[in-house]
Amino acid sequence: MLQAMLKLVPYTMGANALNALVLSWAFADDVGLIVGALWLMLVSLQIVHGVRAWRGIQQQPKRRASARSIRRATLFALLQGLTWGMVPVALYGAASPDEQTIVAIISTVMLCAGAFALSPVRSAAIAYCCTLGLMLAGSVLTSPSDAAIPVGMLLTAYAILVMAAINSLSSTVVSRLVAETQGENQRMVIGLLLRDFEEHASDILWEIDEHGMLRHASPRLLGVLGIAEHATNTLPFHDLLKRKSCNDREASIGMEQLRTVLGHESPFRDLSLKLTHDGEIRWWTITAKPLTSESSKVIGWRGILADVTESRTTHESLVRLAHHCSLTGLANRHHFVTRLAEDLQRRANDRHLAVLYVDLDDFKKVNDSFGHSYGDKLLRNIAARLQETVRADDLVARLGGDEFAVLLHDVQDKQQAMSYARRLLEHVEPAYQVNGSVMPVGMSVGVALAPWHGERPDELMRAADLAMYSAKSGGKGTVAFYTQEMGEMSRRKRMLEEGLRTAIDNGELDLVYQPQIAIDTGQITAFEALLRWHHPSLGPITPDEFVPIAEESGQIETIGRWVMHKACMQARQWPAQIGVAVNVSAAQAMAEDLLDTVKQALSSSEFNVRRLELEITESIFLDDNPSTLRVLHALRDLGAKIALDDFGVGYSSLGYLRRFPFSSLKIDRAFTQEIVTSEQSRSIIRAIVALARTMGMTIIAEGVERPEQVDILNRLGADWAQGYLYAAPVAADKVPGLLESWQPQSFLITQQANQDWRHELHSHD
Ligand code: C2E
Ligand code: CA
Ligand code: CA
Repeated sequence: MLQAMLKLVPYTMGANALNALVLSWAFADDVGLIVGALWLMLVSLQIVHGVRAWRGIQQQPKRRASARSIRRATLFALLQGLTWGMVPVALYGAASPDEQTIVAIISTVMLCAGAFALSPVRSAAIAYCCTLGLMLAGSVLTSPSDAAIPVGMLLTAYAILVMAAINSLSSTVVSRLVAETQGENQRMVIGLLLRDFEEHASDILWEIDEHGMLRHASPRLLGVLGIAEHATNTLPFHDLLKRKSCNDREASIGMEQLRTVLGHESPFRDLSLKLTHDGEIRWWTITAKPLTSESSKVIGWRGILADVTESRTTHESLVRLAHHCSLTGLANRHHFVTRLAEDLQRRANDRHLAVLYVDLDDFKKVNDSFGHSYGDKLLRNIAARLQETVRADDLVARLGGDEFAVLLHDVQDKQQAMSYARRLLEHVEPAYQVNGSVMPVGMSVGVALAPWHGERPDELMRAADLAMYSAKSGGKGTVAFYTQEMGEMSRRKRMLEEGLRTAIDNGELDLVYQPQIAIDTGQITAFEALLRWHHPSLGPITPDEFVPIAEESGQIETIGRWVMHKACMQARQWPAQIGVAVNVSAAQAMAEDLLDTVKQALSSSEFNVRRLELEITESIFLDDNPSTLRVLHALRDLGAKIALDDFGVGYSSLGYLRRFPFSSLKIDRAFTQEIVTSEQSRSIIRAIVALARTMGMTIIAEGVERPEQVDILNRLGADWAQGYLYAAPVAADKVPGLLESWQPQSFLITQQANQDWRHELHSHD
C-alpha cells in the first residue's frame, strides 16, 4: 500500500512545487520575506524527503511495509497537511476577494489531490485531510468576509465528503492491491513449477506464435530438435520437427497431420510423431490448443510433446503376442485369418491363393511317451523347417496343437500348389534329432485354392481342413486336394449333426430287433436291438453313418440313454426266457454314467437285469482308461451280460479277452463270411472257441446268411447265430408275431446240408 502511494510521489511533489511557486508569486508582498522563505523551505524539505522515499522503493521494490513506516508516512502526511493548512490560516483573513479565491482554490485542490494520492495509506490520507480541512474551514469561517459562513460550511462539508470517499476508496484500493500481490505470487509459483516440470518430466512444453515460430524453448526441447537456442528463430516449429522426423511412411503421415491441424483453429490431441534422436527412433505424441487474442484471433499455439517410446514398445510387443504363437514364433490362427482376409480382398483376378493345412500324424503319442517339453522342442523344429519352405511374402502359422497352416501367394494352378505341398513334405518330414534321439515325423497336408474353393477365409480354411482329413484317412504322410465331394460330405455331416439334436424329441428314432438263435435247437434266445433313424428330409439313415457323428458331436450319451430305456421297456413285453442285446458305443462306455443309465433303465422298466446283454467293441480298451474297466465290472456285478462285439476285425487281440471276463464273444460278420472259403479263418475260430470255452464264454456268430455257415459254426463249437438266414431285424411290434410263428426245427442242421458243404469245401481246397 505504502508503495502504491509512494509511486505517485513524483506527481504529488510536482504539484506541491507548482502550487508553492504560484503562491509565492501571488502573495510575495503580503507575507514577510522571512515567513515566506521559511514556508518555502518547509515545502522544499518535504519534497526532498518524498523524492528520497520514492527512490528507495525504486531500488528495493519488494520490500514489505512495516507498521513503523506506515506511522512515519502518516506523520509526514500530517506535516504536509499542517504546511498547506498554514496557507489559508496566514493569508485568507487579510486577503482581497480575488486572493481569497486563489487561496481557497489552491487549498481545495491540495486537499483533494493530496487525499487521493495518499488514499492507499488510509491513516495518512485521513491525517492529511483532517489537518488541512480543519485549518482551511477554520480560517474561512473566522474571516470577516460576508460569504465566510456559507463558504466555510461548504468547505467543511467538502472535506468530510473527501474523507468519506477516501475511506471507501482506500478499502477498494487495498483489496485490489492484495489481489495483485497474490496474483503476482501465484505467477511466481507457477513459473517455478513449470521450470521444474520442464527439467524433470518426460513431457516438454512448447509455445509458438502465429507464424509458427517458437516463443520459448526449454533445453530439453532444444535437445529433441537438435539445435542451439539461437537457432530457434531460423525455422518454424513444424519444420524444425520435420528435420528430425524419420524417413518412412508412418513418420511422414504424422508430420502431414500436424501441418493440417496447425492450419485449423481447434485443439488437437496425441498426434504421433516418429523422430530420430542420436540415431535412435523415438515416438512422441503432440497435443496443443490454440492461443487466442481478445478478438478471438489465433495468435499462436501452446502444447506438450510427450515421449511415448516405452509405452509404444510395450504395446507393440503385446500386439506381437496377440498375433503370434509364443512357442514357435509363427503367426497364430487369428493373425493367419486376418492376413488371409486382407490378401483375398487384394487378390488380382488372375492370381490365386493357396491355403495348406498341415497336421502331424500321431503327435499325441510323442507327447505321451516323451513328455511335453520334448514335444515342444519337436514343434519348434518343425516350425523352423516349415518356415524354410516358403517365400518372404508367404505366411506360416501354427493354428494350435499340432496343426499348422501355410498361405501361398501367386499360385498358378492346382499342379503348382500340389507340387509345393509335396516339396513341403519332403523338406519337413525327414527324421528329427531331439535330445539326442531320432524322431520320425509324419504329416498329412490338405490343399485348397482361392477363388475356386472359397472366396472367404472361413470357406478356404474349412476346405483345406476337409482336404487334410481326407489325406489322413487315405493313409498318413499324404497330400490331398480339396474336392467338391468333400464339401458335400461335410455339408451332409453337419446336417445330420444338427438333425440328431432334435431326432429324439421329434420321434424320428426307433429300435428294430434281430433274433439270435441257439444253433443246436433252432430256438430264439434273444434279440439284438438295432437303432434306426428316419430323417425328415434325407430319409432313412443307417447307424453306421449317424452313430459316429453322434459320438463326435457328444450326443451319443443322450441317444444311448434313450436306446437303453426303450430296449428294456420293449423287451419287458417278451417271454421271460428271451433276452435283449443292446449296443453300447465306446464313447458311451467310457463315460462314467453308463452304470447309472443302465440302473435307471432297469428300474423304470422293471426289467430283469439277467435278460440284458451289452455289446461293446474292443475299441474301448484303446484308451486305457481304468474307469472303463471299473464300470464294466460293476455292470457284471449287477447281473448284466457283456459281449465283445465285432470280434475278428480291427485291432483284434486275444489279449483283450483276458482283460475282462466277457460273457460272450461275437464273431464279426466278415469272419462269418470267410469261414466257408478260408481254412485259415476256420483255424482261427477253432482256437478262439477253445480259448473262450475255458473262460466260460458263449460264442455267437453274426451275419449268418447261408446254411453251410451254420454247419461249420456248429462243428467249430459256436453256440448261437444271428443273420438274414434266420431273420432280418424287425420292428418292435412284429417281435411277438415272429416268436409265435417261429419254427425251430426248420433251422436244425440236416445231414444233407452237411454233405453239401463238405463237397463245396473240397472243391475250394
Ligand atoms: P452291429 O452291432 O455289428 O450290428 C449288426 C449289423 O449287421 C446290423 O446293421 C444288422 O442289420 C446287420 N446284419 C444283420 N444280419 C446280417 C446279415 O445276415 N448280413 C449282413 N450283411 N448284415 C447283417 P445295422 O443295423 O445297420 O447296424 C450297424 C451298426 O450300427 C451296428 O453294427 C452297430 O455297431 C451300430 N448300431 C446299431 N444300433 C446301435 C445302437 O443302438 N447303439 C449303438 N451305439 N450302435 C448301434
Ligand atoms: Ca452289435
Ligand atoms: Ca457286430
